[in-house]
Amino acid sequence: MQDLDGRRALVTGASSGLGRHFAALLAQHGVAVTLAARRTDALDEAAAEIVAQGGRADTVRLDVRDPATIAAAFAGSAYDIVVNNAGIVHGGPTIDVAEDDWTRVIDTDLSGVFRVAQAAAGAMVAGGRGGSIVNIASILGLRVTSYVAAYAAAKAGVVQLTRALALEWAPHGIRVNALCPGYVETDLNRGFLASRAGQAMIARIPQGRVGMAQDLDGPLLLLASDAGRYMTGADIVVDGGHMVSGL
Ligand code: NDP
Repeated sequence: MQDLDGRRALVTGASSGLGRHFAALLAQHGVAVTLAARRTDALDEAAAEIVAQGGRADTVRLDVRDPATIAAAFAGSAYDIVVNNAGIVHGGPTIDVAEDDWTRVIDTDLSGVFRVAQAAAGAMVAGGRGGSIVNIASILGLRVTSYVAAYAAAKAGVVQLTRALALEWAPHGIRVNALCPGYVETDLNRGFLASRAGQAMIARIPQGRVGMAQDLDGPLLLLASDAGRYMTGADIVVDGGHMVSGL
């Protein structure tokens, strides 16, 4: 991963969970990271932790639903790596899901990825150096479970969007890949994982446990660095075997 040293990355949704972890991971490998999200206090805290450990980090307020904040984050930037990680979930029986909740999830988890990827590619093309875009999808983009229809539809969209962007942007030296994690305990799912249904679900994971953020380190670094230089349009599943759980 030596090629990562000195590169620049922007990570969305870096104020908590996986995004915060990915930002720290890239910084440990010499990347100057920009942590982006809406909660600036949490971003500042995460960036300060990285700097205290000898890394390089700054922050920018970015709402993936607000194109003006995205444009501001990319103005004058030269990111080699962009991790499209921001995401939300809305749970509940789909027959009762309100239009607003459906729209919020699709707009954040799918349209947000499109907006940030488009801005990233525009800057990468202008810079003439290409780059790597890593979209954080989910195994729910490839399979389904009950009560998260908007999330599953958005993540499936991210997988297919990744392929479409990879095809269009390969001539510019831009690689676009998707990481599809299984369940990793974060703020997004802590309540569900602690529930009876969550515990039953964990029992069905072949490796017998939920993931830890660190389980994603190798695949994230692979996609971000030149170690994955001949990979584009791929989706990598990291799920302890959940996708192949027995019927
Ligand atoms: P968290 O809830 O811990 O983090 C979500 C992050 O997204 C926060 O930093 C939040 O920051 C940010 N975010 C939400 N909405 C917006 C927005 N409109 N604009 C900018 N940032 C936003 O969840 P996770 O860390 O678990 O999730 C990270 C990603 O990983 C998501 O895309 C999720 O779908 C995906 N994933 C997670 C899995 C898991 O099991 N945890 C499994 C598979 C995929 P803020 O509120 O400050 O804006």
